[in-house]
Amino acid sequence: MKRFLISACLIGLNTKYDGGNNIEPCFCEMVKKGVAVPFCPEQAGGLPTPRDCSEIADGDGRDAIDGKARVITDKGQDVTENFLRGAKEALKLTKLLNADKAILKSKSPSCGCKCIYDGTFKKSLRRGMGVTAAYLQEHGINVIDSDEYLKQK
Ligand code: SF4
Repeated sequence: MKRFLISACLIGLNTKYDGGNNIEPCFCEMVKKGVAVPFCPEQAGGLPTPRDCSEIADGDGRDAIDGKARVITDKGQDVTENFLRGAKEALKLTKLLNADKAILKSKSPSCGCKCIYDGTFKKSLRRGMGVTAAYLQEHGINVIDSDEYLKQK
């Protein structure tokens, strides 16, 4: 059976920055069936929960990986290293699972696959990927945006 990674907040684990989750019953079913394995890159990168809200300033996840953009909290703390560490841990898990895809939470600075918040903390979006989504894609993993997945269901 082929398994894949899923953002932990999508199956109801309280991994979100505010201590909440983004539960979607169809994703919980995937875990119950044993095909989806939950993972939160921000927690794996060493950040606490709850934690300060973060956005990528002046770029997206790909830029952060290339050292051209930083991930900053709403209090101004630079958490780029935590985000990069979380992305590497996510890749480690996909390799252990022999997974070739991941369903990741839309808009997150880690997990977003299509668009992310733009770094202004004004809830405005820009095109681009989060750090983990970009890192996994760079390493050949098919990253699927959770909102897109739900739309096509
Ligand atoms: S980092 Fe990803 S898995 Fe973790 S709470 Fe944010 S969107 Fe969910």
